[in-house]
This record gives sequence, C-alpha cells and structure tokens, in this order.
Amino acid sequence: MSETMFDIFVIGGGVNGCGIARDASGRGLRVGLAEMNDLASATSSASTKLFHGGLRYLEYYKFRLVREALIEREVLLRNMPHISWPMRFVLPLHKDMRPSWLIRLGLFMYDHLGGRKILPPTATLDLTKDEAGKPLKPFLKKAFEYSDCWVQDSRLVVLNAVDARARGAEILTRTKVIAAKRRGDHWEVELDAGGEYRMVRTKVLVNAAGPWVAHILHDTLKLDTREGVRLVRGSHIVVKKHFPHDRAYFFQGSDDRIIFAIPYEGEFTLIGTTDHDQGDDLSKPECTVEEADYLRSFASEYFDTPINPEDIVWTYSGTRPLYDDHASSATEATRDYVLSLNGDGAPLLSVFGGKITTYRKLAEAAMKKMEPHFKYSNGDWTAKAALPGGDFPHDGVPQLLASLQASYPFLTPKTAQRLIRTYGTDAAKMLGEAKATKDLGEDFGAGLTGAEVRWLCEHEFAVTAEDILWRRTKLGLHFTPKQAEQLESWLAAQNGHESIKKVS
Ligand SMILES: Cc1cc2nc3c(=O)[nH]c(=O)nc-3n(C[C@H](O)[C@H](O)[C@H](O)COP(=O)(O)OP(=O)(O)OC[C@H]3O[C@@H](n4cnc5c(N)ncnc54)[C@H](O)[C@@H]3O)c2cc1C
Repeated sequence: MSETMFDIFVIGGGVNGCGIARDASGRGLRVGLAEMNDLASATSSASTKLFHGGLRYLEYYKFRLVREALIEREVLLRNMPHISWPMRFVLPLHKDMRPSWLIRLGLFMYDHLGGRKILPPTATLDLTKDEAGKPLKPFLKKAFEYSDCWVQDSRLVVLNAVDARARGAEILTRTKVIAAKRRGDHWEVELDAGGEYRMVRTKVLVNAAGPWVAHILHDTLKLDTREGVRLVRGSHIVVKKHFPHDRAYFFQGSDDRIIFAIPYEGEFTLIGTTDHDQGDDLSKPECTVEEADYLRSFASEYFDTPINPEDIVWTYSGTRPLYDDHASSATEATRDYVLSLNGDGAPLLSVFGGKITTYRKLAEAAMKKMEPHFKYSNGDWTAKAALPGGDFPHDGVPQLLASLQASYPFLTPKTAQRLIRTYGTDAAKMLGEAKATKDLGEDFGAGLTGAEVRWLCEHEFAVTAEDILWRRTKLGLHFTPKQAEQLESWLAAQNGHESIKKVS
C-alpha cells in the first residue's frame, strides 16, 4: 500500500470535480482526483447541454446566478470553440401562457445583464413567414428568438481532466473513495480501484461527489452535519429529427414549466427536461414511461406533427444535486451552487448544486475558499486558457475544417466535421501521418476508427465501449448493438496489449 501526499484530493470526476482539479493544478498545487466510474458518468453527461443564463430563473429573481452564467457563456465559448457553439432559441408566444410583454422584458434583461459580445440579441419572428414556424401548429403566429449556447457536456468534463493531468494532477478513474479520516493536519483517504486498495494523504479534501455529496459526508466520512442535498431527477427523450433547421425551441407549458426541443447529433431532436424529486434514491436514474409521455405530449402541443412513442430512439436521465434550500417544488429549488468549508486543521470543502455553465466560476470560488491553506504560485487563470484542442478563434471552425480536409482529403465531410467538433486542433494530432482511410486502422462503423479509439484510450481515460460511444462521442446513437459488441470485444482483446495504455 503506497502513500502519496497531495495538497488537494477531489472526490468525484464530474464537471465540478474536474474543474477544480484543473484550476488547482494550474496554480501549482499537487492534486489527485478519484472517480468511482468513468469521468462524467453521472449528472455531468445527463444535462440539457446548454451554456445558459437560465431565462426562467429570472422569474425567481435569481439575478446574480443569471448574470454570472450569462457572462460566463462567452468566456466558455472562447475557451472551447470546438465543443461549444452559439444557438438560437425560438420561443413561440401563446395567448394562454405568460404575456408577451413580460417575456420581452425578461429577454431584454437576458440580453443586457451579461455583457454580450459574440451572441446576437433577441429578435421577433413572424412564424407565418419564418422557416421556424413551419413545423409548428398554425395558431402560433409570433415568436421571440434569443441566444444561448450548446456544449458537449461529457467532453467538457473529460477535457478538464485531460488538462488537469497535463498540469500534473493524478486522475484516477474507476477508483472509489471508500473512507477518509482526519489525522491532525491532513486526511488519510482510502481508495478502492476494483479490488486494488491504496491509501493517499491530502491537506484538503474536496467532496465534489454530486448526488452522493451528502452520502460522502454522512456515510463515508462519518461527519456529524445537517447539510443536505435535494435530489431532483431530470429526463430527456431523443427522437428522430423533428424539424429541418438548426435553431432550438423553448416551449412553455400550462403547468408553468418549460421544455426545450433542440437539434441533436445531426439526425435527431433532443427534448427535455422533467423535474421529479428523487428522495434519497442514489440508484442510476431512468426516464420513466410517464416522463417520456409527458415530454411527448408537451412538445406535441406545439409541433404540428405529434411526437409518437415509436419516434423515441433513446432516453437519458440525470439527478440534479441541488443545495437543499427548502423550496416547495423541485422546479423552484435553487440551481445556484453552495461551497461549504468544514474544519480548520484538515479542511473539507463540499460542493452542492451548480450548473455546467458555472463550473469554472465554481472552481475559482473553491480556490478562493481554500486560499488560506496554500500559497499559490499564480492567481485566477482559467478565464483565458483554452481547453485541449480549443486553441483557435471562437468563429474559426470553418477554417479549421477546411485545413483538416486539405490535409486529409480521404475523410468524408461528415467525419471531418465530427472530428473538428470533438477534438478541435487535436484532430490532426489524432490522425497523424495517415494518407488514406486504411492507415487509420480498424473500421468500427459510423466513422469510428482504430486510430480514434486508441487516442481515446491513451489520452482521454476511455476504457469501455460505453465510455467511447456515449461519453467521449455520441456515436452510440449511430451504432448497431452488434457493432457496439464488436468494439467491446476488441477493447477487451487489447486489454493488457501495449498499444493501448489504460490510464485508470
Ligand atoms: C436533467 C438535467 C439537465 C441539466 N441541464 C443543464 C444545462 O443545460 N446547463 C447547465 O449549466 N447545467 C445543467 N444541469 C446541471 C448540471 O448538469 C449539474 O449541476 C452538474 O453536472 C453537476 O456536476 P457535479 O460534478 O457536481 O456532479 P456529477 O457529474 O454527478 O459528478 C459527481 C461524480 O462523483 C462520483 N462519485 C460519487 N461518489 C464517489 C466516491 N465515493 N468515490 C469516487 N467518486 C465518487 C460520481 O460517480 C460522479 O461521477 C442539468 C442537470 C440535470 C440533471
């Protein structure tokens, strides 16, 4: 049993844990992180995938949260122009819902609270003439169109972990924290990596376990604290492409809730989400038939062609680990984050709530909280630091794509586009000296090659077919079960083979 002494050890490889690990490593601290499954295997791959201010939070007077998130959208867009991009949202006006003057006022604030430079402002659409009106019911005549951004959530997490490791962090996937005890000025943390046990020591312990944050406090660390988390399940359905353009819809419901219908992975439409209290159930959340029916009928109130059960190709569900602010309904519970510091000698920092959009600001706030315990070699630095592959201008995708196609003319336009949107400037590193498709090795289907799978295992902590098909990429949507099995068998056969170095 080897012992290592870290400055900071993070429990949890979701967006918050990986964001904190990256920020702390960049300040010169010795950082470790343990994730019990794959990176982003819990809430951080199950979001609606928006960098957004959260238009509806204005109704709950969450101005600070909305403002911070609105400003953050463009900071993040500049730092990861490969995996995130601007998106326009069409909000059809409906006489039985919120009055149009109120929505216009909300959108005016949305446009002006956050110092927008890249994203275009709100516009008014005549749905009888605009293409966005065509898929909608004819009684919808007018809409507002506003800006937010799309992000590939699980890639965001992985790229933070990749960058943290490049800056010296030790990232341990498939490694569970099973116990931790205070020993004077440090913690002793026990790790279980699939039956291989290891003890590490750390000055500060960070509990970024998302839905498990309270479980870690009470059961793993056995601390006497009343801090709690409110687990709220949110589900999405993915259906065959329901409209031809690249804008998303924002629909209001008669229950005061809202849902989005978003163009997804080229051939699909993503519809979500729901809000259901999960109690203290920590099992893997699943989209129930009732939730799928709710989302279908909600969207079908607006779309002229209803969404039928057989249109659903995939569903997913995640648990929001919200700070328990004793709000009466799941929809009203705050999405703001709370950082709580426990103990002086060997501090514990616990993360409650938060959004994908505010993960970087949350990491900065966490570093501020821990400041008294360390002397940093530098201050806040992540606002102007690109994630791996994101070192090009925010509007530079067309040029990058053209240059990739010129260097690798054998790539289909679809694959070239996918590779840029997945790896950015690293796409060319992944393709290396290849002169023809055959140089990329195995063909697993849907454009996934041996070269890409090797890259994902060597650079991005991927181990299983599920890691590759559902979190590093979304090629699972295009794979047959047989192709997925073949990939899994291939990976199993490579296990222990020197050409694929497992990083966990
Ligand atoms: C349906 C839904 C839609 C959302 N949409 C958006 C959106 O569009 N935009 C937005 O900004 N935000 C959105 N959010 C919010 C956002 O997804 C979450 O706030 C964020 O992902 C939480 O990240 P996290 O790192 O705290 O938790 P998680 O991603 O859950 O990570 C915690 C990790 O800790 C690990 N862990 C737990 N216990 C241990 C242990 N003992 N040892 C080791 N590892 C452990 C878990 O395996 C897990 O991977 C949405 C959330 C949901 C549920």
